[in-house]
Amino acid sequence: MVGEERAYVYRTTEYIKDMGTPERHAEVTRHVASGLVAGRNLKRKQRAIFLDRDGTINEYIGLLSDPRQLQVPDEVYTALAAINDSGFLAIVVSNQPVVARNLCSLDELNEINLRLEAMLGERHVYLDDLMCCPHHPDRGFPEENREYKIACACRKPGTALLDRAVEAYNIDRRASYFVGDTTTDIQTGRNAGLRTVLLATGKAGSDGKYDAHADLGAADLHDAVLMILAEAALLPAPADTN
Ligand SMILES: [Zn+2]
Repeated sequence: MVGEERAYVYRTTEYIKDMGTPERHAEVTRHVASGLVAGRNLKRKQRAIFLDRDGTINEYIGLLSDPRQLQVPDEVYTALAAINDSGFLAIVVSNQPVVARNLCSLDELNEINLRLEAMLGERHVYLDDLMCCPHHPDRGFPEENREYKIACACRKPGTALLDRAVEAYNIDRRASYFVGDTTTDIQTGRNAGLRTVLLATGKAGSDGKYDAHADLGAADLHDAVLMILAEAALLPAPADTN
């Protein structure tokens, strides 16, 4: 069917699950009862946890340019499992100037992201979306990829990628969060009207680029997700819009 172009694929945040075994059927039954299935309908306002990538999901190693450099700590899998089970969307928003610096091509960046999503899939957790800015504003380096050396609106703390996700997935900003390890992440969350959580992993806020104070501080991603879910349990679910 793929060869004949009779297959069509699209990314969605709505509830989809194979329930072809008794265990899976029981899980879907649980999700219907908890409201997760109805809540994920895009007619309803969604809550999202926006996540940085390097230092938040995978170990921070500086500029990552090869899928083999990806390492994901155990607590990140646990954290994503909790998000996936909660009704919050998990959406990565990442600056990847590696393309503008010509450390890898856009195809290679996609390969890194696909490898990351495959690693998560092997442990039965997933991201609802993953968005990257491949640009960098500072020109004048001999090895640079000039096409991507531009001042753009999508490089954090710009909010263009986030704004696109808010639009596409009907996200309620006031019920959503940005979680990251740098002051750039916190500034991005503030610019976008989200609550913010600074992690003690990765750069742990030591980049000092912005004078941005996070609403919450957490030891790692799992700690952050537990705080968010505890806070969210105190708040009413977002109102429906039709
Ligand atoms: Zn950009």
